Amino acid sequence: MRILVVEDEKEIADGIQAILKHEGYESDVVYAGDEALEYMRTGIYDLVLLDVMLPGMDGFEVIRHAKNEGISAPIILLTAKSMVDDKIKGLDLGADDYLTKPFDSGELLARIRARLRIKSGETTRINSNSISAYDISLDASTYKLSHGDKSVKLSNKEYQFMEYLMLNKGIILERDNIANRVWGFDDEGDYNNIAVYASFLRKKLRFIDAKAAIVTKKDVGYSLEENDGKGTA
Ligand code: CA
Repeated sequence: MRILVVEDEKEIADGIQAILKHEGYESDVVYAGDEALEYMRTGIYDLVLLDVMLPGMDGFEVIRHAKNEGISAPIILLTAKSMVDDKIKGLDLGADDYLTKPFDSGELLARIRARLRIKSGETTRINSNSISAYDISLDASTYKLSHGDKSVKLSNKEYQFMEYLMLNKGIILERDNIANRVWGFDDEGDYNNIAVYASFLRKKLRFIDAKAAIVTKKDVGYSLEENDGKGTA
């Protein structure tokens, strides 16, 4: 696996590269947008970590050019915490995911694994709007969670939470990361709220008779698992 790191702050870039190296990923670092595009054109990267604020061509421009040229490597945007609109803009342009700076190494690696799994087909991206994991699928345009011919509509927060679980199926997601991912930096994302939404989602999973189930790891977080049918999940 080879990852391209695009980040003009050298300390951050070096830090990311060290984390990747420790996990056994090969990586290259570039510090500017036009350079990033040149490297991406080689087609050797399985994933690109792309900072938004870059000198010269910014991250959005890089995505725009990359998509126009048919470069297919998944892109995870690195956005500043204060820039909520950047996330939406980035995803609209075709970025696959985003990480808000500052992030911890566990969060970074979880997102990378999720992207690489989608690429390898373990979690299937049915089309750009829909993902599936275990026996359920989730549609980004209708917010519908489905199992077979049964489906149920999710609220915005339920959708964000479910998507995060599905993209990381089988992996325990820490509550702080869930809060950050689903609620962003407004402080509604406390642990109680996460528990409430987990319970909403469980009801909906039961409603569509899904085997996929949300498992609570006490005082740590949540994961999406395949229910063996014995428990009530
Ligand atoms: Ca920057």
